Amino acid sequence: MLTVHQPVERVLGVPVHLWDDYVGELHDRLRRGEGAHVVTLNSEMTMQALDSPPGNGSLAEAIAEADLVIPDGAGVVFYFWLRGKRVFRCPGIELAEKVLQLAGSAGAKWPVFFYGGAPGVAAAASEVWQQRCPGLVFAGIEHGYLSPEEEPKLLETLKQLQPRIILVGLGVPRQELWIRRHRHLCPQAIWIGVGGSFDIWAGRKTRAPQWMQRLHMEWAYRLYQEPHRWRRMLALPHFAYLSVVTLRNKPGL
Ligand code: UDP
Repeated sequence: MLTVHQPVERVLGVPVHLWDDYVGELHDRLRRGEGAHVVTLNSEMTMQALDSPPGNGSLAEAIAEADLVIPDGAGVVFYFWLRGKRVFRCPGIELAEKVLQLAGSAGAKWPVFFYGGAPGVAAAASEVWQQRCPGLVFAGIEHGYLSPEEEPKLLETLKQLQPRIILVGLGVPRQELWIRRHRHLCPQAIWIGVGGSFDIWAGRKTRAPQWMQRLHMEWAYRLYQEPHRWRRMLALPHFAYLSVVTLRNKPGL
């Protein structure tokens, strides 16, 4: 599945593609009709992957099978910095925005589907995008709290409509596992797990101010905005500790 034309690096054993031009790669794939699963890797996700039980259906496997794993988080950049490698962060929300802009310029050729978020959020996000990019064509929108009985209808809709860009905002690891299970339904689509991006586009949450983003402090803003995440975010110091220890003991990892 993976078109290997640039090297795959590893963060604590989890693959990440340090390529020059992610948007160009996805643009080429859209033009060729070649689908992709895009994972936006941060330190929290890396720790979840390391903790996930091995085997079929694990987060580690979903990441390993993805076509493009981008360095989304400051922790990933920090990891490579420790190894003396300069890596530029590619926030998943910004990549998704650029892909939506591409779709906007292609109109009905590359229809878009938004799936995830609380009821009404993806719909509000789609309205914002429709204003930003009038050429964007939405194949459909669905919230992320469907019952098990409702989900087959969504899958049937995707199969019939064949959107070319499918953004899935169910949170990690649910969205990665869901994409891995269902991407065969739309083999020509670019599937991206976008976490809480619909909340941001819909104006329900905000991104950290630019100065915090520049200082790689977006995680601190998230903690301030969503203090209930503190337990999940304990993964960050754990990641930093493991990065230092692993690099000291096994510099190749
Ligand atoms: N969500 C959802 N269905 C669920 C659980 C979560 O649609 O069953 C949505 C939730 O409303 C939010 C997003 O998933 O919009 C998770 O956002 P978060 O920023 O927590 O993502 P993560 O940090 O896990 O990438």
